[in-house]
Amino acid sequence: MRLRSLAPAARPVVGFVALALVLQVPEVSEAAPAAAAAAPATRASVPASRANGSTARASARRSSSGGATSLVDVIVAPLQSTAKRTPVQAGVRNPRGQHVTLQRLDRGRWTTVRSRTAPRTGSVAWVALALPAKAGDVRYRVVVPTGRTRATAAVRAFSVFQSDARKHARYITKARSYVARYCPSTPIYIDTPSIGPRTAGVATTTVVGPFAPPGKRKATRMRWEQAIELRSGMSTSQLRHAALHECAHIVQARPLVAGAKAAAKRQKITEKRYGAKGAAAAERQADCMATALTGSSRHLYYVPRCTRAQLADARAMWRGYGTKHRSPTLTWTARR
Ligand SMILES: [Zn+2]
Repeated sequence: MRLRSLAPAARPVVGFVALALVLQVPEVSEAAPAAAAAAPATRASVPASRANGSTARASARRSSSGGATSLVDVIVAPLQSTAKRTPVQAGVRNPRGQHVTLQRLDRGRWTTVRSRTAPRTGSVAWVALALPAKAGDVRYRVVVPTGRTRATAAVRAFSVFQSDARKHARYITKARSYVARYCPSTPIYIDTPSIGPRTAGVATTTVVGPFAPPGKRKATRMRWEQAIELRSGMSTSQLRHAALHECAHIVQARPLVAGAKAAAKRQKITEKRYGAKGAAAAERQADCMATALTGSSRHLYYVPRCTRAQLADARAMWRGYGTKHRSPTLTWTARR
């Protein structure tokens, strides 16, 4: 969702962009911790649109002196809030009681913010390191010594964005109230790296699958990760329209649970109704879905107004998909 040119209008008019619907992220599967296995989308395969560098893998080295220690993977949710934190999971190969540290880049210097001792048994151990609260796009790295000296270490660097949940508490509560019925638990992040100077909001649905459930060989499971990102400082009516528009994008992904065919069928109807293809149709529909609930055309961006047929379609979307599959981390059985 974009803010229309700020220059001519006395008040910025809100519109939309980037519903970032990422499909079919390949599932990587190697002895991941239970939490991570259930959350494949949060591992290193972060959609490029997020572009905050969670995929970055800096110099993973092995010591030459027989140390077979290395970092199998570092798993971290790409967006976090300072109110609710999930840990960074570091997969240590050949765990022998190594000192595993989480370091943060503060003014050009790496500072240790957490440390844990790896177990002494097994071939791979997952060590959880709690992420400290620190708002903004911040660089971190996990370091594990690989030899007897500190000179050799396995290192993985990545960025994590945390939105300041305390500072924006009232704003998030307000946004949440507007989408409470349809997106009750979809995380809302404020001023993320995706929010450019003219972006009002972004909704992301990252779909992973089909992948094999633990202990099964056949790939039958699907999963998504959904999030809403909003800019701070919008007026009440802008925020309401923006929050509903982004929630509409979240709802637009829900037909997928009935299978790819059902989703394609629903997409065809949308394209016909809004006279556009793909994402453009989805944007127009999201705008009309917001207007169908606010009763106001003031913040429409992708369409000048919504026709009666479009408003009827928008209401049908809320009615049909607004109150089902509301989990932002839904797992379901794949259907064609
Ligand atoms: Zn949009």
